[in-house]
Amino acid sequence: AFITLEGGEGAGKSTQLRLVGEALRVLGHDVLITREPGGSPGAEDLRQLLLFGNNPLSLRAEILAHFAARYDHVDRVILPALQAGRIVLCDRFTDSTLAYQGYGRAGGNADILRLIHSLTDMLALTPDRTFLLDVPRDVARERLAARAGQPDRYEQADEEFHARVAEGFAAVALHGPDRVRRLNTAQEEAAQISHRIVEDILALV
Ligand code: C5P
Repeated sequence: AFITLEGGEGAGKSTQLRLVGEALRVLGHDVLITREPGGSPGAEDLRQLLLFGNNPLSLRAEILAHFAARYDHVDRVILPALQAGRIVLCDRFTDSTLAYQGYGRAGGNADILRLIHSLTDMLALTPDRTFLLDVPRDVARERLAARAGQPDRYEQADEEFHARVAEGFAAVALHGPDRVRRLNTAQEEAAQISHRIVEDILALV
């Protein structure tokens, strides 16, 4: 099964990936935990460029670079794992491109959304389930402030950008098909949320 986690920074994706991965492994499942942008050697190189490069790309070039990384990750890592019968848990996927580039950067511009949708269609791999982790922006900001390490380009973006990203994820949930489950990570303990995610995944495999 192919499972993706989506949401803004500080929504709790990494925590959930770890808890859910551990729980599924204890139950005897073969789990691959991976992330985007990145997840394969070539895609990790592109991640460096996208998040920390000195020369920001034009919007359409940025979208193509995200998809170049994604195609490599899918072809070399995700598809082989799925063919081997593993459960793949992926931190971010196509919905992040829609939210960050389609809404955050492009403000929902129709041509840009069309570009993202066509690259998504050609990829021909849809998650079996997407967990969209939601958190009020002030809680996210507190979590990010407590985080170590160099903030990347997007973490430094202004509040309007993050509001547009949130709008993008809301669109994913709204227009998104039955695969999307939305969870508010400010209302419940992490362990409780992970329990619900695991239950949901077990019903799929
Ligand atoms: O989730 P993670 O912190 O690894 O994401 C890395 C950064 O990449 C985040 O700041 C996120 O906003 C950004 N990103 C992006 N467009 C994507 C995927 C991630 O701007 N399509």
